[in-house]
Amino acid sequence: MKRALNFNAGPAALPEAVLAKAEKEMMNYQGSGMGVMELSHRSKEFEEINERTENLLRGLLTIPDEYEVLFLQGGASLQFSMVPMNLLEKGSTASYVLTGTWSEKALKEAQKMGNAAIAASSKTANYRFIPSTSEIDIPAESSYLHITTNNTIYGTQWHSFPEGLPIPLVADMSSDILSRPLNLSSYGLIYAGAQKNLGPSGVTVVIIHKDLLKRSKPGLPSMLNYEVHAASRSLYNTPPTLSIYFLMLVLEWAEALGGVKQLELLNKQKAALLYDAIDRSDGFYTGHAEEKSRSLMNITFTLDQDDLTSAFLHEAEESGFIGLAGHRSVGGCRASIYNAVPLENVEKLADFMNHFRSRN
Ligand code: PMP
Repeated sequence: MKRALNFNAGPAALPEAVLAKAEKEMMNYQGSGMGVMELSHRSKEFEEINERTENLLRGLLTIPDEYEVLFLQGGASLQFSMVPMNLLEKGSTASYVLTGTWSEKALKEAQKMGNAAIAASSKTANYRFIPSTSEIDIPAESSYLHITTNNTIYGTQWHSFPEGLPIPLVADMSSDILSRPLNLSSYGLIYAGAQKNLGPSGVTVVIIHKDLLKRSKPGLPSMLNYEVHAASRSLYNTPPTLSIYFLMLVLEWAEALGGVKQLELLNKQKAALLYDAIDRSDGFYTGHAEEKSRSLMNITFTLDQDDLTSAFLHEAEESGFIGLAGHRSVGGCRASIYNAVPLENVEKLADFMNHFRSRN
């Protein structure tokens, strides 16, 4: 069977081995006579899936015991609200570094909950770069500082991080979690929707320092309260069982591949192929991100005329490349090359870019 050359931004390509294993277990999970989505979430089988998934994630990202791992629903977008609902203390400010559309949305939700401020922003530069850590100006009495480690739409990524802050660092890692090693000790909370590097959509991973759970007020709706989810080990209500199962398979795949260090090496190799095609094109392709802030996950670029961009996207589609149009809010082109996108597909895209340039 021919698989697509999938460069979607999310939901995105999954490892073929994961899909094959899920297919094999679809009708009969481990001799239970039921598929995973037919199992009770209170069954022994699902409890094991839940526990194994958490343990795999703890191993891969070296998550210490002081942190809880939660599997929630509502996507990263619900975290835009849950973070300030739970962590913004009375009379205090929620501080945000704006590096793109998703951090703007996170800020907007925080503003609905209380005081929120911009600690740094690259908006006036059309989000071409990540502000340096020395530029971040955190207002006094802040409850936390929020960053978006990879900006899916603009194709920028944080490569050095604020360290030793007096307040918790909170990060939206939706589009780069598991793509590189993580030094969790700098963070109070991280969250990520699964549908890029972790699995299909439907589950959102939240990793939270146990100290921060004390900030969740009992008056919060239970489903929006981190403490409630932590106390019930993410089984407060019916969890997205199938998505969690897929997450487990993706984590098993990542572990078998050699873990996040190996994934990072591969991701660097893949990104270099496309950035080389851009940099060696004599201006035929222009990268959106400044070099120092380039993302290894989402490679964004433009061609210098609109009709050439349309021709590029059209020919790419005819050649079997999926998902190369830039986000509707910025246009241009974007190749999303998350963990599961095979190196050979990226090589094919780089070749296509070089050939298209030589023909135009
Ligand atoms: N944050 C980032 C960095 C994203 O890329 C996205 C989705 N593309 C979101 C948040 C929103 O995620 P969701 O659709 O899961 O709410």
